[in-house]
This record gives sequence, C-alpha cells and structure tokens, in this order.
Amino acid sequence: MTDPVIIGSERSEAGLPAGMAVLRAGGSALDAVEAALLLCEDNLADHYVGTGGLPNARGEVELDASVMVGSTRAFGAVAAVRGYPHPISVARAVMERLPQHALLVGEGAELFAAECGFTTAELLTEEARKAWHDALSVTEESVEGENTRAGSGDIAYRLAALELVKRLAPHEGPWGTINVLALDERGELVVGVSTSGYPWKYPGRVGDSAIAGAGNYCDLRHGGAACTGRGELSIRATGARVVVDRLAAGDDPETACAAMLADAATLPDTFRAELRTLALTPDGRHGGAAGQAGSTYSVMTAADQEVRFLPRRAVGPA
Ligand code: ASP
Repeated sequence: MTDPVIIGSERSEAGLPAGMAVLRAGGSALDAVEAALLLCEDNLADHYVGTGGLPNARGEVELDASVMVGSTRAFGAVAAVRGYPHPISVARAVMERLPQHALLVGEGAELFAAECGFTTAELLTEEARKAWHDALSVTEESVEGENTRAGSGDIAYRLAALELVKRLAPHEGPWGTINVLALDERGELVVGVSTSGYPWKYPGRVGDSAIAGAGNYCDLRHGGAACTGRGELSIRATGARVVVDRLAAGDDPETACAAMLADAATLPDTFRAELRTLALTPDGRHGGAAGQAGSTYSVMTAADQEVRFLPRRAVGPA
C-alpha cells in the first residue's frame, strides 16, 4: 500500500486538509483533489479562483479548470466558464461523462454543466467588482451608458482595458491559480488545477490551467506536475509536460521543476511575469520551483495534523 500525500500551490491550504481526510479514509486521489479544490473555489478571500475571482476586462468572472489521472492519462477540462462556481467538478464531469472530449469552453461548457445539474451562482463579489472597477479606472457611465456592450463604446472600452492589461504586466503580487496533486493508498496519482486566470484578461482568454501539458500533466509512470503564474509562458514551454519528462529522465522533483522554469525563462515575453511549478512522483517525492525567492508550497501526509509549508527552489533569470 502506498503512503498517501497531497501537495498544493499557495493558498491550497484552504483545501488540503479536506483532501487529506479523503485519502486517510482510503478514498481516491481523484476525490481528494476535487474535495480540496472545491474549498479553494469557495474561498472568497482568494481572488484568483472560483467565486470571488477577479474578472476579465468586461467585469465577468471566467473560470478555467482541469483534472488528469496518472494511470490512464484521462483528462477533463473547462475554460472560460461563467456562472458555475465549481469548475473543477465540471472538468471532472467532462472526463467521466463525456470521454469523447477533453476540453469544453464557454457556452458549450456552461450547457454541459447545466445538463449535468450543476447549480449556477453569482461569481463576481462586490470586492472583486470594486477591484476591477478601480483597476480599469472606468466610470459607471462608460460601462452602463448609451454606448453599451454592443456598441462602439464597448469597443473603445475594451481597447482601453487592453491598454490597461499591457500597463499592468508583469503582474504584481502572487499569482493565484491553485494546483493540487494527490497520491492515494492504491498508488493512483491525480493532478487538478483551478483558476479565474489573469485579472482583467481579454474575454475568452484561456491560460495554461485548462491545457494538458501546459498547466497540468500527470503520468503514473513518472509523476504529475502543475503550474501557476504566467500561463502563456507555460503554454509556450509546455511546462507541466516538460517537468514530467524531466522526472522520466531521472531528475528529482525540485530539479525537474527548476529545469522547466529555466527553459521558460529563455522565451522572449514582453509581458513576462512569474511562473511557478510543482511535482509529485508515484513514490511520494515532491518538490517545487518559482521565479521568486521565498516561495513555498503546501504538503500533507497522513501523519500530518496540519498543512506544512516547504520552500520552492528559486530560479532567477538566466
Ligand atoms: N496560470 C494562470 C493563468 O495563466 C494564472 C495564475 O496562476 O494565476 O491563467
């Protein structure tokens, strides 16, 4: 029997104890990852995931999530989903109930969520709305006035939002996607990722979190990996897949993560911002790396009563 372990990115501590409770009771890594991420998605203090997430340039909260199972490399994801507070569960439903597909986006993902019976909710909290409003420095009139979303005012507004997105980059402060990686007592390994994405993003923008090989990858032969931060860099570098390839080549988890970040750092990127990554192997070894010193990740084993915070290796610019 394998010793269960669950690890996660910054602020996953809101959900890891629930995930470990599932694993301690003999539950599956898939259930543990979902249980942990559900609590993170409900955490109103976290503005980078689920309800309370910061919205896109138009003030709409659009969520991305994915899940991948190591033994089968089954993958399910949703992206740019509005109105559904638990995208991780919808991603799991895509994997389990719509196995002919791997990724649903926007309206189609919302239709599927409705057909599955998931309930809708208002995802834009007053705090997040105010942050969006202040950041974009728009007046209520420019949004609600006579040139509304369908008219020329909308185009001007979105152009202004795009300018603002450029000014905002690189993104300051923590990136907030949540990664959760779990290993259960039967030796199954699962990686889940959930995010509201880059704040004030262009509507429809999908980051790495919903993309297999970029923000999430899991292969029971070698390990699982997940990323947070500048999703476009992770997509271009196929971040999570590269980490797993390095594990396959014999790197320990921390070295594999650092190698991927060093490679991603060589890509030209006007909007460069921090990228972070985590890895967990089928024998329970784990590690992480980040572009910033002092970064940590969260860990719980069956013996832990509380979440432990371990350092990630800092990978500076080349
Ligand atoms: N990786 C996420 C994305 O690009 C952002 C984040 O980590 O906050 O959508």
